[in-house]
Amino acid sequence: MRIVLLGPPGAGKGTQARRLADSTGMKHLSTGDMLRAEVAAGTELGLLAKSFMDKGDYVPDSNIIAMIQQLIADPAGVLLDGFPRTVVQAKALDDSLEAAGLPIDKVINMSVSNDELVRRLSSRAICTECQTPYNLVSDAPSTEGICDKCGGDVIVRNDDRPQAIMNRMKVFNELTVPVLSYYKSRGDVAEIIATGSPDSVFEALTQAIGSVGHSN
Ligand code: AMP
Repeated sequence: MRIVLLGPPGAGKGTQARRLADSTGMKHLSTGDMLRAEVAAGTELGLLAKSFMDKGDYVPDSNIIAMIQQLIADPAGVLLDGFPRTVVQAKALDDSLEAAGLPIDKVINMSVSNDELVRRLSSRAICTECQTPYNLVSDAPSTEGICDKCGGDVIVRNDDRPQAIMNRMKVFNELTVPVLSYYKSRGDVAEIIATGSPDSVFEALTQAIGSVGHSN
């Protein structure tokens, strides 16, 4: 199966995709996680990406497509989280999958109100090692700054600071809302309201996907 998870920053795509990957064996492909790993490793791509990410801008399409292209035909099936984010990326994904003879099985749009997104993003922190997300108000690590799962450093991302949050919302509306229209115009997009608890959102997600036991 190949599933595209769409939704604004803060919708919970990463949390849900990780959970779904654990329960199905599908490969979780998060372009945000990949870019943060490049930044942490100080690679050329990481240095370039950081200059865009810190402001909440998108990394250029050509870099993103080159980074992910080889991974999307994984035989375990893939959950795409944070990609495609532009219509150019969506078309590149179509081309690559067509060349590999593989369809997109589901496009799922996770929607959350703007107020809730800003609330979530401004209290969000993340482990720099395993990428586990925390909410500093309702779900803080038991020792401040230390990940409960792996002992890594838990930090607030530069792009979760107020100025960058506003820019990320603007960029999402300009560049990613058209991706939703692109998929809607050619077939069904499953819509889920991602406002409830992680458990209830996961239930809605698995229902939207149908049979999650099938991983490829
Ligand atoms: P995320 O963790 O998905 O919120 O992504 C964090 C940041 O990485 C975004 O705000 C962008 O700067 C960059 N990024 C992640 N995925 C993409 C993508 N598909 N296209 C362009 N930039 C991306």
